[in-house]
Amino acid sequence: MEILKQEKSDFKKAQIIGGIFVLIALPAIYLLVYYTGGVKYVYSHIMYIPIIISGVLFGPWISLFVGIIGGILLGPLMPLDVETGEPQLFLNWMCRLLVFVVVAFIGGCTSKKLRNNIVTIKQLLSHNQETNIPNTNYLKIFQNKINLYQKTIITILINNHNNIIDVLGTAVYHKLLFTLYDDLRKELSNKFLVVQADSNKFWVIQETRDVEAEAEKIVEIINKEKKINGIPLYVEYSVGIYEVIDHYDFDSLSIFTNSDICARQSQLQQLNYVIYDNSKKKKRFEYEVLMSFSQALKNGEIYLVYQPKIDLETLKPIGFEALMRWNHSRYGEISPIVFIPLIEQTRLINELTNWVLSTTIKKIKEFCERGIPTTISINISAKNLIDPQFLTRTMKIINESKVDKNLLEFEITESAIMINPEESKVILKEFTEEGIKIAIDDFGTGYSSLSYLSRFPINTIKIDKSFVKDITTNESIQRVVKSTISLAKELGYKVLVEGIEEKEASDIVKEYQCDFVQGFYFSRPIKAEDTLPWYEENRKGFKR
Ligand code: C2E
Ligand code: MG
Ligand code: MG
Repeated sequence: MEILKQEKSDFKKAQIIGGIFVLIALPAIYLLVYYTGGVKYVYSHIMYIPIIISGVLFGPWISLFVGIIGGILLGPLMPLDVETGEPQLFLNWMCRLLVFVVVAFIGGCTSKKLRNNIVTIKQLLSHNQETNIPNTNYLKIFQNKINLYQKTIITILINNHNNIIDVLGTAVYHKLLFTLYDDLRKELSNKFLVVQADSNKFWVIQETRDVEAEAEKIVEIINKEKKINGIPLYVEYSVGIYEVIDHYDFDSLSIFTNSDICARQSQLQQLNYVIYDNSKKKKRFEYEVLMSFSQALKNGEIYLVYQPKIDLETLKPIGFEALMRWNHSRYGEISPIVFIPLIEQTRLINELTNWVLSTTIKKIKEFCERGIPTTISINISAKNLIDPQFLTRTMKIINESKVDKNLLEFEITESAIMINPEESKVILKEFTEEGIKIAIDDFGTGYSSLSYLSRFPINTIKIDKSFVKDITTNESIQRVVKSTISLAKELGYKVLVEGIEEKEASDIVKEYQCDFVQGFYFSRPIKAEDTLPWYEENRKGFKR
């Protein structure tokens, strides 16, 4: 569904660009015809271009309107010969206007019909006709938009589908398929796509997190009692799981055979699920990532992007968060969620954090040189906090850089602090005394309470994005977020909510007195070279 939505938004963008073109083209063509001597020359035919474009993009009625405007601009408003001032005959311009209108209307109708037909054909082709669930054609049609790298593919087989059909009929069976599809869609938090791959087979594609946990979750969902027309059904499933860890160019469905084979294995061995053994591949990937890390820092494969933080009161940007990106020469874009845990297992994490700090300091200075003192936060790893040299080394980099320490913020997760709370307290105290701000990242995902955290010197609580995902629809989430914000504020913290993807979510947390937000609704993380222009453009604040 996401992809269909994206297609719609791509078309909206084309409409905006096309609309602007038409608005500029109409007076421009008028001027061109006028300054080249009038309609006696051939230039008037250029008017067909905006008419046809508006037909293709906006359908018959708007293009008809454009046709009339075009006809008038090149009609009563335009002489036949500008030099002599000779006007056009009424019949002459009226006839042209009529031709414009007919072309506009026919072009608009045809393109609208064609577009609707394409949408219907895509819908028919890409969805199973009985169940209305996306099918394998969906994957084929949208394959250029689907990247399976770092995704988990799960095959779910319904083993006793023939029995169900024989006893209860196809209608009940189709309802069962849809119920299962609906449950998977609603209950999997990191699902990407659910596809009906065969009459008794589903493929679930989701972002890889913890494969075992994902498997357990799937088993839990499919084993929930399914009642169709009041009849509780006995359904037998087999599940196979394949984690895509190689950087595939997705050009065939053959990659799905790995999880299919596992599902069949789970069927034969009567296991709840079977996970494809990726260990060799995984080890090679991990080894390569670790081996190439230091070099990647030097050759620019690793870089920082900056995501703005917005003040909800003024809707102005108040700073950025620096986030790491790695465009690996062999594996392509690797997410920090994948490579940072690997780096954290080695001393390279020191090199990583030092590099992020130094690069961020340069960015802060670049902003200050333009007279814009803006705070930038960096993420501190749990491993940094347990490193005895971390404090001295970090303060050395900061002091030598002579950066204004008030403009630096460290984001630390609550679980990182809890590894060694006493030690963390000393380190955090030292940082805050130097003027560096501390934010608790991903708050709500760990087990600590706000009152426990109040022993630590903290400035801001960042509520994890998982809370915002369903905030617009889920009242219990609303209550949790509301009470967390109000308690945090009572304790004297500033509160930021992460992962704001839509206006409604922003409005809700504003109502709860949240101070700051961060999320795709306001801005995705921005490349280093685009941060200043972005700031200049948005410094006056977003529109309400
Ligand atoms: P984080 O610090 O909680 O960063 C926020 C993550 O949420 C970022 O993912 C960001 O791109 C994403 N995000 C922001 N707005 C939205 C939104 O509206 N919707 C959704 N769905 N996501 C949003 P990213 O960049 O992939 O980073 C993931 C995590 O990797 C970070 O989580 C942080 O824990 C870690 N990380 C990133 N850069 C660094 C770094 O330089 N050092 C360390 N130690 N960890 C880092
Ligand atoms: Mg963070
Ligand atoms: Mg976070």
